[in-house]
Formats: sequence, C-alpha cells, structure tokens
Amino acid sequence: MSSKHIAILGSTGSIGKNALRVIDALGPQYQIVALSAHTNVEQLAEQARQYKPQFVAITNADYEERLRKLVSDLDVEVLSGADSLIKIAELEEVDIVLSAVVGAAGLPSILAAARRGKRLAIANKEPLVIAGELLTKAAKENGSTILPVDSEHSAICQAMQSGRREEVNKIILTASGGPFRKATAEDLQNVTLEQALSHPVWEMGPKITIDSATMMNKAFEVIEAHWLFDMPVGKIEVLIHPESIVHSLVEFVDGSVIAQMGEPDMRLPIQYALTYPVRVAGINKRLRLEEIGQLTFERPNLQTFRALSLGYEVARTGGTSAVVFNAANEAAVQEFLAGKIKFVNIVELIEHCLNKHDVKTDVSLEELLEADDWARKQVEAQVHKSVRA
Ligand code: NDP
Ligand code: MG
Repeated sequence: MSSKHIAILGSTGSIGKNALRVIDALGPQYQIVALSAHTNVEQLAEQARQYKPQFVAITNADYEERLRKLVSDLDVEVLSGADSLIKIAELEEVDIVLSAVVGAAGLPSILAAARRGKRLAIANKEPLVIAGELLTKAAKENGSTILPVDSEHSAICQAMQSGRREEVNKIILTASGGPFRKATAEDLQNVTLEQALSHPVWEMGPKITIDSATMMNKAFEVIEAHWLFDMPVGKIEVLIHPESIVHSLVEFVDGSVIAQMGEPDMRLPIQYALTYPVRVAGINKRLRLEEIGQLTFERPNLQTFRALSLGYEVARTGGTSAVVFNAANEAAVQEFLAGKIKFVNIVELIEHCLNKHDVKTDVSLEELLEADDWARKQVEAQVHKSVRA
C-alpha cells in the first residue's frame, strides 16, 4: 500500500488526540504532514516534537509567537490565523484531511479540501449542518470522498455496504439520550453546568457534550445524515439507545435492518475513515455482547427535548435556517459554559433566532456567513438584555 499523508485540523482536541493514537497504531504508512490547534500551543508543540509534521498551524494568531519559540529547534513551518487551516487543507502533499475542529470555524478549510479533491474524514459536523449542500456538491464535482467520523454516520456508511443505494428504505440514528434522558421539562430548569458536562457514555469536548445534553447534537446529526447520504428528512428516524452499542441502523426495502455495533470508542470510526474501503486490525475496545447483556431502545421525548423537533423543522426548511440554528447554538452554548445563562435558555435562544429569521434559499457562502453573524449577534443582544433586566 502506498503511504497516506494526513493533515489533522484540531489535533489537540478529543477527536484529534484519538486520531493520533489510531495513526500511531496504523504504522509508518500513515504520515502526519500538518497539525493544528486554536490556543493550546504547549500541546501542539509537543505533538510537533513527536510526529515531526512539516507544518503546524495555530488558528488564534495571538499565540503565534509562543508557538514559534516552542518549536524553534524543530524543522517545521509555523502558520497562524484562521486561514492557516485552508493552507494546510490545500497542501499538495496532503492526501487525507481529518477535520476535528469544533464549530462553524471548520467550514472554509473543509470546503477548500473538497475543492482540491482530498479525502475528507469529517468529525466536525457543524459545517455539514450549515453548508451540507455546498460541501457535498463541491466534493462530488472534484472527486473528493467524504467519510464521516461521527459514530452514527460511520455506522450508516458501513451498514449501507449491505445493499445498493436505491434499496435503502430508511436510516435509524441512535442516541444515548445524554445525562438528562429521564428528565422532565421541569427538571431541566435547574440543571447545573457540571451535570450537563457529565455525559453517561462518551468523553468528548465541552461543546458537543452540551449539545448531547440538549439533544441539539442529534438534531445536527439528522441534518448531517440528510446531506451525507442524500436521504429525505422523512426517512431519517431517531431512537434512544442508552447502552450506545448499536451506533445506527439502515433499513432496506425488503425489511432487513443492518446495524453496526461496537463499544463506544471513537477510535473505530476514526480508523474506518482513514483506511476505507479496507479494514485493518485496530486498537479500539472489542465488543463482548455477553457482558453487555441487554440492549434497550425507546422513542425520544420530543416535548422535553424541543431541540430535536426544531432540528427536523430546520432540516425540512433548508436554506439559511440551518446556519441560524447552528450559530445561535454555538453562541448560546458559549454563554452557558461561561455561566451567563441557564441550560434551558440555550434552546429558547435558538428558537428565538429561528422565529426572527427570514429564511433565504439558494444562498452563497457569503450569505451563509452573514446569517451566521446575524444569529450570533441576536444571541448576544438577548443575553445582554436579560442580564440588564
Ligand atoms: P474539542 O473541543 O475537544 O477539540 C476541538 C479542537 O479544535 C481543538 O484542537 C481546538 O484547539 C480546536 N479549535 C477550537 N476552536 C477553534 C477555532 N475557532 N478554530 C480552529 N480550531 C479550533 O472538540 P471535539 O474533539 O470533542 O470535537 C471536534 C468536532 O468533532 C466537533 O465538531 C464535534 O461535534 C465532533 N465530534 C466529536 C466527537 C467526540 O467524541 N469528541 C464525536 C462526534 C463528533 P485548542 O485545543 O487549542 O482549543
Ligand atoms: Mg455522533
């Protein structure tokens, strides 16, 4: 097999670090060409020392000087600023771009990689939510293969191999239900930051952990599946599965349902996206069903988890509604993590923005970014107003 040259965008995060462990185990055929972080210069410098990439990028330019000092004895080119991600995604020597950045900030570099025909391993779901049409079209036109790292979408991608695309009847996305699966709408009123950050199954970065608690994460995943698999929204279902062993399912026209199972361990979907269509031995935990004993499934509670119904509405509406949905969430989650708003305010703020927004369809990237900016400002204004009130 020929060598694969990889750029990891967001190598200091939860997915980024797991990806480095997978690549360590895959052996020397998988080589790191570029790594990036936003502020965590110490860790990025350590990674540069260990993996000897040709490029390191620090997206928050305030940290550039620190990084330069830390890697001054290494033979590595330092890039800085938000656009540095585009530069590394476009590098001639890069075959695979693994996007593990958090939020809409990952959009320009994913788009650039798609336009250059790179293999894209995408963990960073927000760009797919806000610009799924643009991204999948760019990938198709330029011969770029998009492989999902999100565990549910990796599961669907794997289950889809059991039949032809036109034989697929529907997709069933599983959800752990997060820390508040059994909560009532009233219980959610008094949720603390600490409770919201304690996910029962997955250890992830703070933003997606909050998204899992509100179930915004599952709402995003419905939209993500819609674009990745070109599936009508009406054929994408969500099922709560607290054990998180069945990562998702595909029902074919004959009624056969194919599920992909495994221990909840992101190293498996990361590896699959890197080695596809080949499978190789991995370092992920092995599934012992006899130890699990029971697998349970239940319908999601759409009254308590309003985010999920909003997600379906947004998926059906399309246009700029998804970008507003995502940007309002990013801004609101930031306010919640900073202790400025209550847990329940997150979804209230998102709904407020969606109600105020005039949806535009057939939009350019610039118009998407305008809507993104508008929604963030709306959230800021609302929070400011309620703090003063
Ligand atoms: P983390 O917060 O752990 O890591 C985020 C990474 O992106 C870090 O390297 C961080 O750098 C960098 N980063 C942060 N802000 C910016 C920015 N504005 N511009 C560029 N880079 C930035 O997140 P996760 O690894 O948990 O998640 C990454 C993505 O993968 C998200 O989109 C998430 O939804 C998705 N995902 C994650 C899963 C998981 O298990 N964690 C599962 C499925 C999907 P620094 O360290 O310097 O802050
Ligand atoms: Mg997921």
